[in-house]
Amino acid sequence: MEDQETGCGRALIKVLAVLIGLCVVVGIWGAVGKLDGLLPRALPTFPTAAPFTPWPTPAVAATFDFPLLPAGSYGPYVQGVTGPLAVDTRYGTQNPAQGDRANCFRDGDGGAVPFSRLYHAGVDLFARDGSGGIAWGEATHAPVHAVATGVVVFVLDAGQEGQVVGIEHRLADGSAVYSVYWHVSHVPVQAGQPVTLGQMIAVVHDMGLNSHLHWEMRTFRDGSDLFPAGTAGARGTCNRQVAGVGYTWDDDPTRAHPDYYGYLDPSLFVEGRR
Ligand SMILES: [Zn+2]
Repeated sequence: MEDQETGCGRALIKVLAVLIGLCVVVGIWGAVGKLDGLLPRALPTFPTAAPFTPWPTPAVAATFDFPLLPAGSYGPYVQGVTGPLAVDTRYGTQNPAQGDRANCFRDGDGGAVPFSRLYHAGVDLFARDGSGGIAWGEATHAPVHAVATGVVVFVLDAGQEGQVVGIEHRLADGSAVYSVYWHVSHVPVQAGQPVTLGQMIAVVHDMGLNSHLHWEMRTFRDGSDLFPAGTAGARGTCNRQVAGVGYTWDDDPTRAHPDYYGYLDPSLFVEGRR
């Protein structure tokens, strides 16, 4: 009996020691993260949600606008335009600079399809500096606005990548489109809540120099079963992810581009509806 209690005590002390160790590591990690020369802008004032009836039919969205405002102060990284890196974060692009890092797609032999071959399914918006280049890290905590009137359909946690918010918008012809916002945090809205054009639904998550909004417009609500059986996405772990995976790919080039799956070019879509 005494031995058991001592054993329990030792086990408890070990657990506590591990927890304290973890706290120290996380604390140091956090401190180092703050030392990269960035002082994120102060968080904006968050509106208190007015009482609402959950899951109303979304009001028709007649007008759209960009999620980061003023729109001219944010934009994608484009190789040769905003800098020398072999990176292009516009919609529907591939990024050779991403190298062999793997995502969830698997080729016919089960091998990981390298990140460099995947097509970007959204546009990554970074803060711009006065001369049109990228102001690395400056987008941190920028308010993210609903691109149109609609209803929030999901708010998901993506760990270190921040949160993901999805909004359904009903169009005049009765069809629906969905706006999706990745790498955000401090989300003051919840699933089922109606939102209006321009309403603040999050801020850009602090990812240090890489802080940006990955923004998608698409014709489907979630990407949980996006890739057909027997294709590169279904062979890997791409399906079963409600928010989607941010990229598309297939062995057959005619089915590789985001257009094939119902993604839309977000900037083009909004430009024509402002
Ligand atoms: Zn992206």
